[in-house]
Amino acid sequence: RPQQAPDGSLLLAQPASLDLARETFVIEQDLAQAIHGEQLTMLFQPLVDLDKHCVVGAEALLRWQHPTMGDISPARFIPIVEAIGLSDQFGAWVLNAACREMRRWREAGLHGLRVAVNLSACQLADPKLQEKIERTLARHHLEPQVLELELTETAAMADAGRTLRLFREIHDLGVSLALDDFGSGHSSLIYLKNLPFDKLKIDREFVTAVHERSDSQAICKALIDLARGLGLRVLAEGVECRAEVDMLARLGCTLFQGYYFSRPLTGQAFVAFAGDPTRIPALGPPVLAQLD
Ligand code: C2E
Ligand code: MG
Ligand code: MG
Ligand code: MG
Repeated sequence: RPQQAPDGSLLLAQPASLDLARETFVIEQDLAQAIHGEQLTMLFQPLVDLDKHCVVGAEALLRWQHPTMGDISPARFIPIVEAIGLSDQFGAWVLNAACREMRRWREAGLHGLRVAVNLSACQLADPKLQEKIERTLARHHLEPQVLELELTETAAMADAGRTLRLFREIHDLGVSLALDDFGSGHSSLIYLKNLPFDKLKIDREFVTAVHERSDSQAICKALIDLARGLGLRVLAEGVECRAEVDMLARLGCTLFQGYYFSRPLTGQAFVAFAGDPTRIPALGPPVLAQLD
């Protein structure tokens, strides 16, 4: 007999939520294998400086090719990684893969690049995080200046005192810190005031169709001015068309990431992209003039 809720309705799982629960269960079961079984890879999405007209680095983005379910998005499986306590293992794998790739770029003759790695909230609780970062950089003979860590606002905030100490230590090593997805979720200017961030990444939410929306323009302008006032670099995430780039450039943004420039690439494809500045479209005066 089906169970009844207090209001008398039947407690039957909806097919959709049942499917989702099953899928979550499968993902949980298979995550531990993923890390050992060569199912994880990293892609690298170029970070473009339009003023200098060059690629200044890449964001490392994790990919999981599941043996039967196909590609699973990190947005789907990272929260499960966190929930089942595998963040430290995955985090270590990602950091090592990103640093190993940076070493390859160096060997391919690409210098002066930075690699940005996403850190999940749970990793901040790891008392050995700083040591692991130092050891991974040393393993690949890299100086801390090549590494940037991306944190979201929610990640930063579990224990403000501890987070501050940790960030200062990491920052003192020479690693830079970026506040990811700024403006989404639980934004607070307090984080920007108190924590040693070097870069602010404007969330795609405000970037999409910014050329057509005066509200997004007002927000982007405020964020760009805020970053400048605080002495931070500012990057617009998820630019998909020329008109968005032109508008953001007019508002004072020079750093960009998004499909307009490039989708996330394999390490090898990234080397080809970063080594060839002609792949970056120029910001021509005619297009800027059209906006006026
Ligand atoms: P994020 O850190 O904000 O990364 C940017 C996301 O936006 C990436 O999605 C990227 O592929 C996507 N993106 C970039 N340009 C465009 C664009 O022009 N249009 C659109 N529609 N999307 C664009 P992805 O790779 O699916 O990653 C999703 C999220 O998963 C990331 O958001 C990050 O929070 C998390 N993530 C990815 N890799 C890692 C990792 O190695 N460790 C941790 N802890 N989290 C990760
Ligand atoms: Mg990120
Ligand atoms: Mg982001
Ligand atoms: Mg985002």
